[in-house]
Amino acid sequence: MNELLRKSALELADMLAAGEITSEELTQAALQRIHALNPKINAFLFIDDEGALATARDVDARRAAGEQLGRLAGVPIAVKDNMVTRGKPTTCASKILEGWLPPYDATVIQKLAAAGMPVVGKTNMDEFAMGSSTEHSAFGPTLNPWDTTRIPGGSGGGSAAAVGSFMVPLALGSDTGGSIRQPAAVTGTVGVKPTYGAVSRYGLVAMASSLDQIGPVARTAADAAALQEIIGGHDPLDSTSLDEPVPALESLTTQAAHDGLEGMRVGIVKELSGEGYQPGVLASFRHAVEVLKGRGAQIVEVSCPSFDYALAAYYLIMPAEVSSNLARFDGMRYGIRVEPKEGPVTAETVMAATREAGFGDEVKRRIILGTHVLSAGYYDAYYGSAQKVRTLVQRDFAAAFGQADVLVSPTSPTTAFKFGEKMNDPLSMYLSDIATIPANLAGVPAMSLPAGVADDDGLPVGFQILAPAHEDATMYRVAGALEAGLGGSLATRCPAAEWEEVL
Ligand code: GLN
Repeated sequence: MNELLRKSALELADMLAAGEITSEELTQAALQRIHALNPKINAFLFIDDEGALATARDVDARRAAGEQLGRLAGVPIAVKDNMVTRGKPTTCASKILEGWLPPYDATVIQKLAAAGMPVVGKTNMDEFAMGSSTEHSAFGPTLNPWDTTRIPGGSGGGSAAAVGSFMVPLALGSDTGGSIRQPAAVTGTVGVKPTYGAVSRYGLVAMASSLDQIGPVARTAADAAALQEIIGGHDPLDSTSLDEPVPALESLTTQAAHDGLEGMRVGIVKELSGEGYQPGVLASFRHAVEVLKGRGAQIVEVSCPSFDYALAAYYLIMPAEVSSNLARFDGMRYGIRVEPKEGPVTAETVMAATREAGFGDEVKRRIILGTHVLSAGYYDAYYGSAQKVRTLVQRDFAAAFGQADVLVSPTSPTTAFKFGEKMNDPLSMYLSDIATIPANLAGVPAMSLPAGVADDDGLPVGFQILAPAHEDATMYRVAGALEAGLGGSLATRCPAAEWEEVL
């Protein structure tokens, strides 16, 4: 592989700024590796050679002319296929959106353009971001670069695999219940769900609007921090967008890597690290906690009893919102239109035929579930109770953050599982999110950082760091200190680092 692709986004940014390399050269190298490896791992649904190279050449010209450019100008990035890109395919990995070309750019896409970051393409995912393995993609699963017989996590497995296999240094994901963090955990990458509202959702195809959040995927904590600085900030086009300045996340992360965490109180969440967790995952988690201690953190144990009900509440609230958000795919406005095989052609029958043909099983399952929990007579018992649990989860967080500055847990109870292992058992698939969901219910920032590899199977383990809302900077500081204490990025140990581009 081209040696440039092994470097972090910030190393590349420095080389670009110093005029040692051009963005065109770097973007070309990324595209070449993507074309060579994608037939093997299926991380991308669309590769945009032309668009990415045009941005790269433009940035190179502006730099040559002496223009002051942004921190990551010229560094290529991949984007999950549920963020709309003007005139470029956006499918959400669903047949129902095949052929649709969005008429506008998501706010994050506009921000990447303003920052001069070439977008190399759109990454694979579970259909409409529903799943934990990318096996629910209508266009085939993505393979895990650590072991291609295993899942890369989901729903954002494409972004995680693209970054983990050195196709690109950075990607964007979206996290409704863990879809940035769990893929990061099982691919040895870094994945961040910022505070709800810290990054605009305008142009993110909605799954469950009260839970969805866009965030960075990277190989180092500082790379993720630099990217969050670019995509974060207030957006009047998103009514839930926070109107507050974005902190200097990158410098706080690198500073903590150097200085350590003297005085930082780190709380281990009792409910998120016991029964049901793979022994190798727990061992890596405990080792990382020791490393934090070694870096000056004070370790306490906290209890969040309502977290035991978070998964159940999520699987009522999320489908309720899904059933409403996905009503817009009616065969009239976007993507495919299917007419019924027999009988009259009316708005209703076309809608039914289009949704029958266009949606996969998991999407249908959630729409049916959501419609049921919102129906008269069941609303209070299901949706109403779930909203009460949501309040209890928020209270547990508030109490725990009285005792600790950040909370920690394993990101996922297991390492990457084998393809097919959970496809016929939706409930066991849903359990992959047991540790990630509380953060979405409460809107707090959370990230997954590689803790090492599990001693029982040699696969990457994710370490989750949660902070109070608006305190993403504290989370990044812990990540910076932990990563340095663990000896740097785990991603460099991924077998894909040795994959050559000739297949
Ligand atoms: N795996 C979870 C689900 O299937 C999370 C999805 C997400 O975060 N988009 O709902």
